[in-house]
Amino acid sequence: MNKREREEFRKLLLQKKEKIVRKLSELTNESKEMETNVAQDVVDKAETSYTKEFLLSLSDQDREQLLLIDEALKRLRREEFGICQLCQKEIGRKRLEAVPWTPYCIDCQEKAEEESKS
Ligand SMILES: [Zn+2]
Repeated sequence: MNKREREEFRKLLLQKKEKIVRKLSELTNESKEMETNVAQDVVDKAETSYTKEFLLSLSDQDREQLLLIDEALKRLRREEFGICQLCQKEIGRKRLEAVPWTPYCIDCQEKAEEESKS
């Protein structure tokens, strides 16, 4: 993956992240200040430490996604983005475009889902 491609995925991830943060601040109204802080972090550095209150106010799904996005941004900086965290193989391009924050290739994801079912 070249630099330009990584930059595109970075933008995708940051957009998604902002969407989650914004959705939350619309729900809670009181979080204006928090929104500004997080938005600034998004610009300054990909890594953000969230307050406990912030994380608790998110739905489980949003919280999980936000953390996955942060992990993906870290992998982008380490140039490990697009590599499955379980089997170390490259994650398919189509899958990355659909779910850029995924840490796993489709095979490992399916395996994990199978295991959680049984
Ligand atoms: Zn894998």
